[in-house]
Amino acid sequence: MQMANTVISVSNRLPVAIKNGELTKSSGGLVAALEGLPKEHYEQKWIGWPGAEITDKKEQKQIGRKLADEYGCIPVFLGKEEAAGFYEGFSNSSIWPLLHYLPNYLRYEPEWWEDYRKVNQTFANKVLEIAKDGDLVWVHDYQLMLLPAILRAEAPNLRIGFFLHTPFPAPQVFRFHPCCRELVAGMLGANRIGFHAFNYLRHFSGAVRRLLRIETELTQISRDGHTTALGVYPIGINASKFEETMDSEEFRQRRDEFRRAHEGKRLVISVERMDYTKGIPHRLEAIDDFLTKWEQIDKIRFIFVSVPSRENIEEYQHLVEEVESRIGQLNGKYATLLNSPIHFIHGSIPFVDLCALYALADVALVTPLIDGMNLVAKEFIACQRENAGLLILSEFAGAAEELFNARFVNPYDSDAVAAALIDALSTPVDQRRSGIQAMRERVIRYDAQHWARSFIEDLASDPVDDAGIGKTNIKEANDQLRRAIEGGQKIVLFLDYDGTLREIEVEPSAATPNLAIETLLRRLEQQPNLDVTILSGRSETDLEAFFGSFSFRLIAEHGASWRQPGKKAWKRPDHSLKYAWKEKLLPILRVYEQTTPGSMVEEKPSAIAWHYRKADEEFGGWKANRLTQELSALAANQPIKVRHGKKMVEVNAAEINKGTAVARVLELLPDYGVAICAGDDLTDEGMFELTLPRLLTIKVGSGSTQARFRIADPAAFREFLGDLFK
Ligand code: UDP
Repeated sequence: MQMANTVISVSNRLPVAIKNGELTKSSGGLVAALEGLPKEHYEQKWIGWPGAEITDKKEQKQIGRKLADEYGCIPVFLGKEEAAGFYEGFSNSSIWPLLHYLPNYLRYEPEWWEDYRKVNQTFANKVLEIAKDGDLVWVHDYQLMLLPAILRAEAPNLRIGFFLHTPFPAPQVFRFHPCCRELVAGMLGANRIGFHAFNYLRHFSGAVRRLLRIETELTQISRDGHTTALGVYPIGINASKFEETMDSEEFRQRRDEFRRAHEGKRLVISVERMDYTKGIPHRLEAIDDFLTKWEQIDKIRFIFVSVPSRENIEEYQHLVEEVESRIGQLNGKYATLLNSPIHFIHGSIPFVDLCALYALADVALVTPLIDGMNLVAKEFIACQRENAGLLILSEFAGAAEELFNARFVNPYDSDAVAAALIDALSTPVDQRRSGIQAMRERVIRYDAQHWARSFIEDLASDPVDDAGIGKTNIKEANDQLRRAIEGGQKIVLFLDYDGTLREIEVEPSAATPNLAIETLLRRLEQQPNLDVTILSGRSETDLEAFFGSFSFRLIAEHGASWRQPGKKAWKRPDHSLKYAWKEKLLPILRVYEQTTPGSMVEEKPSAIAWHYRKADEEFGGWKANRLTQELSALAANQPIKVRHGKKMVEVNAAEINKGTAVARVLELLPDYGVAICAGDDLTDEGMFELTLPRLLTIKVGSGSTQARFRIADPAAFREFLGDLFK
């Protein structure tokens, strides 16, 4: 593993808050996680917003110095308005609800998007000011989704990690956001993206395919020489802090006090931020249902700790009103002279009290409608050291994947939640103890520190850009060619067009040669001892339109039709070929065209092709595999070849392929010094498989290949040619 010296964590909030000019360190899970990284391997810095508006430059400097000296923190100062648009607006009223499958809460203002972009850029400027080549930059969460791509563009040698602490929804849901493409592309700037659960990873990968139309593999996405690895890292709790607190005298005192205060009552606790994702109103419905059935109202107490959250946002204010009023109603409805069943705290409680509460509770009722992870569930389990409580957990919390002995409920089904409560309170202690112990061991072992270490170690050993897709270093090809050019040898160049010389477009007719290509080709034309063939799957008409004015050899339809240098006429070398199979196969392609919206059939003199570039990514890909199989079965006894190329399935005569065409040209030029074949897709592999002497094969872009050399993308390839042929 390559050791990195510095980890720069970047998050919306610094782990140190400024209140009335005083600095206080937060004790959240992320702080504990990062503190757990071995100090001998990683020096740490933290960039973020200190949470208060400070406009005075002198004061900014003073606080900046204090934060850096005492806490290794570097503040990003934001203006009040901009912070509101970025944080309350775009982050929390726009992306947050959608990431949690709640499009009804989605609000969008173009000014918020401007603020979000600006603030992401401000964060990037700060990172770029601090970071050195080779540093690990770990960006956290949905407030900074654009940051990885901004950093990558400016500093490609940084290793950038991104962790999403929320769920990532199905692509169909994420699509609702007007800026969905920019957000996904922003995240893709990272070398590694971490999620709490595989489902979120899978959804993100689907969003990349559907929204950006980039091919993905299960755990990696490569494009333009940059690879993003995807991984699952379920975050854990600050286990040692819980253990230490539970060993303390203060904890024992508080626990005993609580025990006395709730003497004779079964305790059911719910702890969370006051957020609409936590399912509080749904849970109150379930409690209503439960209380109608539970006979010993005097012997049950629900404790709700609801930490105030995002109080400036209207939806959150409505939620508080709704919860307060509903709890009031329920207490009015069920209270006896001895007990009021719901004890509601709208505030934060000291850590030691939280531990005591977790430790004493008979049941934790954790029923978010959806939650990225839910640490409360894990914290409750960790504190059940002596007690044998039961965890009722929403099946839609990320934690549900790990807390295997919990009692799972659908939070929308209040009847089922009420039934689970009755059942939990009636479960014998022995049964509860064995269930909780196994989960407890897991929660303690895979804690927050373990989480941070796994992510950072993986990020540190991720390949830097290009290395992941490289084969033999392209410099070797460059040296060999340079020697041949200087030695006055004849060079023969075979160039594919789409995806090789020119970037692919969704609409093939839009991929005309641009100025950069024209200039390059004019330069190639001027070279002595250089023979150029442009060889493509395109039709004669297209090649004529694009390159008619050049003196190159043009080969259309993968080798079926040729135009020799300096000639105007096109010739088909294989006159003897029969194309009767076209008529037989065309109806099959037409069925696929008809049943796959966005796809189309193209008929060429020597081939037929089915294109699905505009079809739904997954459906198109699936249909293409079916069509390839179907046609391949028929090809067995026909003189044809079926190829599944980039977003198309093509059938053409078996004798016709780019490899045969290259071999034929070289037969005409026996005195060549070096020949180069360059291409980007499966149809080019025919050239790469040739075993002719002095042949250099170059694959442009990612994906498996037989070519000996690889170059990242068309732009890099053009630069390569431009460098050689000045
Ligand atoms: N928590 C807190 N103060 C309290 C009650 C809870 O800081 O008075 C903490 C709790 O210990 C947990 C966190 O708030 O670590 C909530 O994290 P969770 O993953 O459950 O939900 P999130 O707030 O991240 O959506």
